Amino acid sequence: MYIIFLGAPGAGKGTQAVRVAQELKLVHVATGDLLRQVQEQGTELAKEAKAYMDKGMLVPDEITIRMVLSRIAEPDCQVGVILDGFPRNLNQAEVLDKSLAEKDKAIDKVVSIMIAEQELLDRLGGRWICRECQTPYHTVNSPPRVPGKCDRCGGELYQRDDDTVETVKKRLEVYSSETAPLIDYYSQQGKLLEVDGEGSIEEVGQRIVAALQRGR
Ligand code: AMP
Repeated sequence: MYIIFLGAPGAGKGTQAVRVAQELKLVHVATGDLLRQVQEQGTELAKEAKAYMDKGMLVPDEITIRMVLSRIAEPDCQVGVILDGFPRNLNQAEVLDKSLAEKDKAIDKVVSIMIAEQELLDRLGGRWICRECQTPYHTVNSPPRVPGKCDRCGGELYQRDDDTVETVKKRLEVYSSETAPLIDYYSQQGKLLEVDGEGSIEEVGQRIVAALQRGR
């Protein structure tokens, strides 16, 4: 089973992808996390990717496509995958469809998490993430029990370099121009599930699982 999660930055895509993957026993593959892991290696490729990420722009397709296709071909992913942050433009979507078709596979469903723009800006401003397990927190909506420490693993919380006001605006623009067209692309394939992203993390999670189980 291959499920894609679409949503503007701040829509709760990552948070929900982690939860739903646990519930449905699928592997969570997040391109943003893969790209941030690559940065720890400090290679030239990593530096190139970081320059795009810090500006809120998409990393070139030749980097992300290769990275994702090789990740989902790994043995642990054969149980099924939730793709979080990929595809992010039409070219990525088409290459992904083609590559899966060559193995007689296909995307099953695409969950689009919908949220108002002002809510996105409010959410991104207060976002903190665990350095160890990537669990996201929010200073107002979901603060950690101990400030600066992860509830799950005790790891240190940090703010992403690309969560600054300027970069957030750029990421929202890139989402509207590059990623939002995928909503039509998957709707035409009859795979789109639109889910209201407002409400508590639990409420939205339940809506997503219910939509996936209904299949519409
Ligand atoms: P995310 O953690 O999903 O918000 O991604 C953070 C940043 O990583 C994005 O703003 C992009 O610069 C880059 N990125 C993540 N996924 C992709 C992708 N599929 N294609 C290109 N760039 C990506």
